[in-house]
Amino acid sequence: DTGRLIVIAGPMFSGKSEELMRRVRRATIAGVAVLVVSHSLDTRSPLSTITSHIGAHIPAVPLSDVNSLAEAARSADYDLVAIDEAQFFGPELVPVVEALLRDGIDVIVEGLCVTFDGEPFEPLPSLMAVAEEVLRLTAVCTICGRDAVFHQRLKDSQRGSGAAEASEAASDEDPPSVAATAIDASHVGGLDTYVARCREHFNRGRATT
Ligand code: ADP
Repeated sequence: DTGRLIVIAGPMFSGKSEELMRRVRRATIAGVAVLVVSHSLDTRSPLSTITSHIGAHIPAVPLSDVNSLAEAARSADYDLVAIDEAQFFGPELVPVVEALLRDGIDVIVEGLCVTFDGEPFEPLPSLMAVAEEVLRLTAVCTICGRDAVFHQRLKDSQRGSGAAEASEAASDEDPPSVAATAIDASHVGGLDTYVARCREHFNRGRATT
């Protein structure tokens, strides 16, 4: 039998890591032999774990490129390979995943499908095109609370406090929202550099330098 490909895609803060962890935990309970892989460039995770924005983590094997991924996947009799933050592996990940599927290994891939300037981010779009199942997640816009399909990098001057986000919301002439403050208050790390944004509040170019 060939394997099945599940892709979990979205912007930052959309819960991709949480969803990958949930599926890995379930597979483990079911007695499936799982290899969990992260990229060694992913600085959010302490070595050898996957970490979500709320701090949950599971053990993972950090690898630096697709060749070591292919090697690790064949080093034991794995039923399932789960790949965290797949965008770090680049477009060469696609043929490697397809080879694993042909070998009968199920694959779950989690990653950003969009860059911080709003462009498609390979390899996720290509993997979504050939997956048996795609889970497309959204985050919460830090200005209005609507579904965020983008994440955006803040300028230094906009970083940090909820107040900066709130005043930005005001200057955009939007009704001030509870969502922005609530989310900022509950968040750790990451948020002072990148924020989730809906289509309306995503500014291509303006705040990305
Ligand atoms: P991803 O892997 O997609 O970056 P994570 O699974 O690491 O996402 O984290 C998702 C969690 O981040 C949410 O469950 C929530 O607790 C938190 N979070 C912080 N900011 C936001 C936001 N703007 N929208 C949605 N969730 C957010």
